[in-house]
Amino acid sequence: MRKVLSSATAPSGHWVGDGFPVRSLFSHMGGSNDYTPFLMLDYAGPEEFGPTAKPRGVGVHPHKGFETVTIVYQGEVEHGDSTGRGGVIRPGDVQWMTAANGILHKEFHSEDFTRKGGTLEMVQLWVNLPAADKSAEPGYQAITDADIPSVDLPDDAGRVRVIAGSYGGSDGPARTFTPMDVWDTRLKAGKTVHFSPEEGHNVIVVVLDGKVTLNGDLCLEGAAQARLSRDGGGFTVEAETDAKLLILAGAPIDEPVVAYGPFVMNSEAEIRQAITDFNSGRFGQL
Ligand code: MN
Repeated sequence: MRKVLSSATAPSGHWVGDGFPVRSLFSHMGGSNDYTPFLMLDYAGPEEFGPTAKPRGVGVHPHKGFETVTIVYQGEVEHGDSTGRGGVIRPGDVQWMTAANGILHKEFHSEDFTRKGGTLEMVQLWVNLPAADKSAEPGYQAITDADIPSVDLPDDAGRVRVIAGSYGGSDGPARTFTPMDVWDTRLKAGKTVHFSPEEGHNVIVVVLDGKVTLNGDLCLEGAAQARLSRDGGGFTVEAETDAKLLILAGAPIDEPVVAYGPFVMNSEAEIRQAITDFNSGRFGQL
């Protein structure tokens, strides 16, 4: 069985712009690459917003050197970027944005959600790119709820929606630069499930909602996460209540991580270059 290397409950939150009250469940910002290829996971909400006229969110800002993955559970997020693409991300949808060589984008509540108000709940996951792919063209995958296969777990224990990678013979729709699984997992109270991600992959079990016991030993109550050893076979999750998890497993990218705000590169020199490029308008227009 894989060993639990660390675990943490969500810290108190902070706001990203005026639209996203987030709790960072893990982050590379302190200089850690322990979660590689994953860099950061922000869990936004669930938060009630009243109806209003002006969309709340984050205005135009850059990203470079990695990918942002937005998973919407409740509410609607509208996106636009410097490649000219955009759209509304609805409950069950996932937006997989490749910043790579540099992108500008903005993230707001949708017009409709703004006008009606409601509950917003989403995750934004940052996924690193290998050095060789940090200069790739920026890209954008709009993945809808209907694109994501849902696999029923044995013993009526719940289900896994396969966003990336594969589970139970079903492949997720997301195209990734390095091998990884992103499993949107729902477990029913009282059920125990055994998961067996690829050997050598880093594994992070994120409990967004509910209470589970990991490997018969560690209690995790949402929002919380645990990081498992890269080897050792599978692990078990016993649901004490109905639970909503995000299970992440990926091939480690064991390269230096040098981050400055929305830029994640391999060296200080590359960060300085990214800032120069951004300031001189080389990330395009929005
Ligand atoms: Mn952003």
